[in-house]
Amino acid sequence: MDLELKDKVALVTAASRGLGYATAQALAREGARVAICARKEDALREATQRLLVETHADVLPVIADVTKQADVERLVKTTREHFGSIDMLFINAGGPRPGNFSNLRPADWESATQLTIQSVVWLAYAVVPIMREKGGGSILANTSVTVRMPLDGLTLSNSLRLAVVGMVKSLSVELGADNIRINAIAPGWTRTERVDEILRARAEHNVSTLEEEAAKITTDVPLRRMASSEEFGRIAAFLLSPIASYITGITLVVDGGMSKALM
Ligand code: NAD
Repeated sequence: MDLELKDKVALVTAASRGLGYATAQALAREGARVAICARKEDALREATQRLLVETHADVLPVIADVTKQADVERLVKTTREHFGSIDMLFINAGGPRPGNFSNLRPADWESATQLTIQSVVWLAYAVVPIMREKGGGSILANTSVTVRMPLDGLTLSNSLRLAVVGMVKSLSVELGADNIRINAIAPGWTRTERVDEILRARAEHNVSTLEEEAAKITTDVPLRRMASSEEFGRIAAFLLSPIASYITGITLVVDGGMSKALM
């Protein structure tokens, strides 16, 4: 299916690897021009090089920390000046620190709020006026399956990501008349570099292999495996694309059936 993305402009944050990179890659493969950001120059340069080789797309790398308002404003301004506009925004950031209430400290809640909620607010305030001016656009916020099913040891994610879902629903109501769609995507276990790091640590600890550790995690997942990051990227690209033109205000769970909630 043609996602009708030829020459459209996408801004994908936190994209030097993982789900952000996979989304930028899927959009670029469909012909979009893509701005990507990350905090570290080396990682961003490498990701840009990979994207260019894999997709031959027009790629703009911008160093930016999405928890900093000034960085976000510069990122959006640079993207707009370079490409002329912004049609799609994929909001992504690193995950909040794992831990239970008892071993987290107030400062952890503060930094996780910056990372998980405040970054979405900064990006929305910077991009919505551009989309309004050009008569529409689409925004997709990355969250986690924890918005449907709290996971043990992920108190910050279980708590704070719900604010993003609430924000997405509220903005979808407010921005619909401006032809701006906004949705959330909620991945379950997806095989990114970060997940490989977790599997490697468990494999070392249990004297096993990465695949054995992945199999243990996915015993309760109906599809019995993790998603690949490419699978995730394709779904994110679809939701951002004009093909999903009547979808707004939803949270699409992409978890292989892991969460058992009915709604
Ligand atoms: P990852 O660690 O592989 O990638 C994170 C990316 O974000 C990197 O490119 C990193 O440089 C960038 N980044 C981190 N903080 C940033 C900041 N403040 N500003 C700019 N860039 C920043 O992680 P991932 O597995 O791709 O996950 C991405 C998000 O999805 C995380 O929030 C994670 O918690 C969430 N998630 C992942 C999974 C999974 O199984 N992979 C499942 C559910 C939710």
